Amino acid sequence: MEENCIFCKIVNKEIPSTIVYEDEYVCAFKDLNPIAPVHVLVIPKIHIQDLEHITQDNIEYVKHIHSAFKKVSQIMGVNETGYRVICNCGEDGGQEVKHLHYHLIGGKKLGNKIAHE
Ligand code: AMP
Ligand code: ZN
Repeated sequence: MEENCIFCKIVNKEIPSTIVYEDEYVCAFKDLNPIAPVHVLVIPKIHIQDLEHITQDNIEYVKHIHSAFKKVSQIMGVNETGYRVICNCGEDGGQEVKHLHYHLIGGKKLGNKIAHE
């Protein structure tokens, strides 16, 4: 639990969110400002700042995040139509919330571009 981290507060149910899946390691909830019909954030239940802060000590959480994608895709009904997973890291990556999170986006045909200026 990191002081003033909004996603830690979501994990601890201190602020409301629409959780679609959770287990011991992972929490998945709807993005507040969805860019597609399906837009879910999948996060570890411990505070990891970003991809640069993954270590042998917390890699178990990352493994569970990767296992959770197909569960979340089924729950959200996009497992057959497909989806995109995006993880922004640091300043140039455009990461706004400094708690590791993966955007799972789908429910429509996404554009070819994976990056915008
Ligand atoms: P990023 O730019 O990769 O750091 O993405 C942060 C994402 O978190 C954005 O898509 C926001 O819409 C989303 N977000 C911020 N606060 C909340 C919240 N309280 N509940 C759900 N999603 C949020
Ligand atoms: Zn946090």
